[in-house]
Amino acid sequence: MKKLFGVIGDPISHSLSPVMHNRELNELGIDAYYHPFHIKGEDLKTAVEGMKVMGMNGFNITIPHKTAIIPLLDKVDPLAEAIGAVNTVVRENGLFVGYNTDGEGFVASLKEDWKDDLSGEKTLIVGAGGAAKAIYYTLLSKGVHQVDIANRTVQTAKNLIENQPYQADSQALSLKEAEASIGKYSLIIQTTSIGMEPDIYSSPISLQGLTPGAFVSDIIYNPGETQFLKEAARYGATTQNGLAMLVYQGALAFEKWTNTKPNVTRMKETIQHCLGGTSC
Ligand code: NAP
Repeated sequence: MKKLFGVIGDPISHSLSPVMHNRELNELGIDAYYHPFHIKGEDLKTAVEGMKVMGMNGFNITIPHKTAIIPLLDKVDPLAEAIGAVNTVVRENGLFVGYNTDGEGFVASLKEDWKDDLSGEKTLIVGAGGAAKAIYYTLLSKGVHQVDIANRTVQTAKNLIENQPYQADSQALSLKEAEASIGKYSLIIQTTSIGMEPDIYSSPISLQGLTPGAFVSDIIYNPGETQFLKEAARYGATTQNGLAMLVYQGALAFEKWTNTKPNVTRMKETIQHCLGGTSC
């Protein structure tokens, strides 16, 4: 019988996940379909119950339901529980089990695009919102302990550090303090929304003093090269945009649902094609 996957969110029409997953399912000859569902907050419980009885095999969760879905699931993976957000649900022996592949996807993309052993990297995360939390907790859970967090609201960065359940050697910094010590980091991850359309000439911090050879990632994927990444490249860094995180979080979900490794390069091409203005 055809398997059914999907994504739930509000809004949902902008999501690129359906085109990315459906192309991959087709290319790999897997008899399944991935559908976007527009679910309002007040309907979330009914929607999850409906998906369960209808035999849905798995789904992604996007804004604003990543936290609210947790009490509606049968089981939640410890990392997703610590992060407090689930973006992927898998039906396992009839039960809905929640995972967070956002941080895992980001770390997988670093391993693929840069290096496998991240444990000794002196890391700076800029921003302390939901995406930063997923990345920070996942890095710590994988033994990357030297991770500082800089944020406009320093108290939010302090809260992330104080509440993390792993071993960490972390400091909360203001954006100015991060700028002043930028040269000591070998890995810098930009997670704020600064630099997105329409504010494409803004950057959260200056990178003057960056060590050439550092790896700089910005999880924004539209525009493809933010002001932050342009500056990083000028100072000799290797750069990565947010397409990698988007694709790898999807690839990990795909693998959990189908037990098949998708072609990540092809998934990237599919998204790039859509972002290039083609209607998808
Ligand atoms: P969020 O929870 O709302 O966090 C936003 C962060 O940006 C906070 O640290 C906030 O600082 C900071 N910020 C916002 N406006 C600012 C400003 N004017 N000046 C300084 N700092 C500012 O958002 P999120 O879910 O983490 O998402 C953040 C970005 O990541 C978005 O651009 C989103 O599209 C992108 N993202 C990409 C992927 C991917 O797969 N590539 C996945 C998830 C998210 P304060 O705490 O001071 O408000």
